[in-house]
Parts: sequence; C-alpha cells; structure tokens
Amino acid sequence: MAQDIETRLVAAIAARRDSLIGLTQDLIRIPTLNPPGRNYREICDYLDGRLSGSGFTVELIRAEGALADSDAHPRWNIIARREGRRAGETVHFNSHHDVVEVGNGWSVDPFGGDLIDGRVYGRGACDMKGGLAASIIAAEAFIATCPDFAGAVEISATADEESGGYGGVAYLAEKGWFHPSRVQHVIIPEPLNKDRICLGHRGVWWAEIETKGRIAHGSMPFLGDCAVRHMGAVLAEMEATLFPLLASKRTAMPVVPDGAKQSTLNINAIHGGEPEQDPDYTGLPAPCVPDRCRITIDRRFLIEEDIAEVKAEVAAMLERVKAERPSFDYEIRDLFEVQPSMTEEDAPVVRTVARAIEKVLATRPDYVVSPGTYDQKHIDRIGRLKNCIAYGPGILDLAHQPDEWVGVQDMVDSATVMALTLAELLLPDAGA
Ligand SMILES: [Zn+2]
Repeated sequence: MAQDIETRLVAAIAARRDSLIGLTQDLIRIPTLNPPGRNYREICDYLDGRLSGSGFTVELIRAEGALADSDAHPRWNIIARREGRRAGETVHFNSHHDVVEVGNGWSVDPFGGDLIDGRVYGRGACDMKGGLAASIIAAEAFIATCPDFAGAVEISATADEESGGYGGVAYLAEKGWFHPSRVQHVIIPEPLNKDRICLGHRGVWWAEIETKGRIAHGSMPFLGDCAVRHMGAVLAEMEATLFPLLASKRTAMPVVPDGAKQSTLNINAIHGGEPEQDPDYTGLPAPCVPDRCRITIDRRFLIEEDIAEVKAEVAAMLERVKAERPSFDYEIRDLFEVQPSMTEEDAPVVRTVARAIEKVLATRPDYVVSPGTYDQKHIDRIGRLKNCIAYGPGILDLAHQPDEWVGVQDMVDSATVMALTLAELLLPDAGA
C-alpha cells in the first residue's frame, strides 16, 4: 500500500485515542453478564447508535429459539455493514459482547471502566470489549481516510461466546451470515496480544462418567456396592494409563502455553453419595453406601487426533476397570464437543495481518493456537469459512480474572494493525 495512506491511517488512529478510551469505557459500563445474559439488548442499542452514526447499515438479530434464549434474557446480536464505493471483498470483525461473572478480589469497580496509568479496568476490558472498541475505531478511521474503498467492512457484536456461542455466532452462521459468498475475511479481536496471530484452537470433548452401585447401611457395606470405590478404581486407572498416554501425544499446532501442546484432561467435578448439606446444617451425615458416583471430564484434543479415537480411549479405560471388578457398571454421557480448528499460515487474512504487524510494531508476529475454544469453531464448521483468525489487544491471562484491564497503547497499536489490514484488503489498486 502507498506510504502516504499508511501514514495517514497511523495518524487517524492516534487522533482517535480518546475516542477509543471512551468507547471501551462505555462498553464496560453495560454489564453484559453471562450467565444469565444481561443487557444484551442495551449493548446492541448502544452499538447501533454508534455505528449508524458512522454510516453503517445495522441489523439487530435475536437468536430466537437458540439455547438459553428467553423473553427474560433474549440473545441479541448486532451486525453492521458499511459498503464501499465499488465491488470487492468483505472484511468482518467479530467480537462477543458477553462477559463472565465478576468473582471476588476486585480493587476497582468491575463495571466502572476506570482509566488508571494507561489501562482501562473492568470486567470484559480485555475479553473483549477493548478488542471490539479497537475494531470499531479501526473501521471508522479507515472509512474516513479512504472513503473510496472497495468491498465492505462489517462489525458484529455477538452473544454467548462465553457459554458456547449458540445464541451468537453459531446462530448467525446457521442463518448464512458467515457464508464465504458474503464474507471473505474474519478477524476476531480476542485478547491474544497485539503481536500474535491466533490461527485456531484445540478440540473439546466434555462427558460425564457415572459408576453405579447399590445402597445399603454404612455399617454393613458388604450388603451394598460402593459406587465411590468403583470411581476410585476409574481414577487409579486414569492415573496409571490414560494420563501417560495423553502426555505422550504432542501436536505440531503452535499451542500456547507450552503445557497445552499435548492432549489434556481435566476432571471438572466429582460427586458421590449423599448430597452436601447446607452450611447451616448442624447434624451429622447419614451412613449409606453410595449407589452412584459421577465425574465430569474435560478432554482437550489436538488437530492430529480424531474425536472418535478420543472417546474410544476413555471407553477402553473403563472396560479395563470392568475386566478387573466383577460388579463394575458404568454409564458415559456426551455433554459437549468441538472440533479443533486451524487456519493455514498462508491464508490471505493471516498474511495481511502479519504484514501490518511488521509495519506497526517492527516485529514479526508469533503464530499461536489457543488452548481453549472461541467462536472460530462456528465460523469454520457451520459457516464453512476458513479464512479466519483471532487478533486483538490484551493479555489472555487477565481474562476472567479480578482487576481485568486492557492497555490503551495496546488498543491503539492493534487498531492501527486492523486499519492497515483493511487498507491492504479493500484498496486493491493502492499498491503493495
Ligand atoms: Zn473472549
């Protein structure tokens, strides 16, 4: 792209620094807590006002009938589109507008949007209202600087990413909003650091394993069959065979942090026997042999693995326990699954953002893959659009933590990268 366009875009973003801070603060001050899904309409209305004012055509879309959508907590999404003056490709920035619960340990107001020493604080500051604000400022600066651009710029803010994205990107992808015939490049400004390009994520399989027993009086356990002891045998088998197997599987995906470059399994919960009593209960427990014990497992898998094989490993482990324990009986239930997703390093959006990072930050980007999933899965699997990455300001480790913040300079730098990316993709005759 011509040098003078680049210089003008850098200046246009710098001139919008206060606007970027104010926009981030405004977004943080709308507490879009998920669950249960509060203020989704309010944040969409706010963004409608902002983006309509910048010349975008705006649609508010409720994910009617989607998981968790209800009249009390409707799943509202917004998609804004600004057409260029001639035909060309569409570049789409997708952010989720929901935030997770506040939790304990805050020293600032989680919905105050305080600006302290160059950082904006609040729940959702880095994950990902700072990224949403950066993409809006990038788009506004680009459109004002290069009004005769080709193609279109789209910005969406979508619901429920934190709880699977079914009332957000998955719904929109099913309705065709991410079809490659209407969108060609997608950037998701999740907080992966301003000098890294996130190509995708590992796969997920959640399941519940239940061991079965027979209830009896605790003084005569031989008359029953203890489901907790059966689960103990499952856990022992897991330690002896499954965890070593998972540790031996390494991926060629550039997953960060390093510990996530292998297959992993977490036991999210274990429950067995009589339910826990309320804290104000002062009595003693009743003596019973537990007839059920359940664990929830969270298995993260690699692009080199097949989900059927992942499930078969766990089934085989349970069968080994069964072979050793005559009365062993179990059930396994699928809860949730996501396929791994990874965009190629030579995909157009990756190459373009990489060049913009080199120009703005004078460094080559790191290519990473996220240990956990985000909405790219729906754009890839449902939308069938492969040319998609996550790129945005903020430090991933701060997400979901108390005193979450996003750095103002990081937002400015990544907005500049986004604006240069728009220029390269939507000003085809400006020259490389
Ligand atoms: Zn996020």
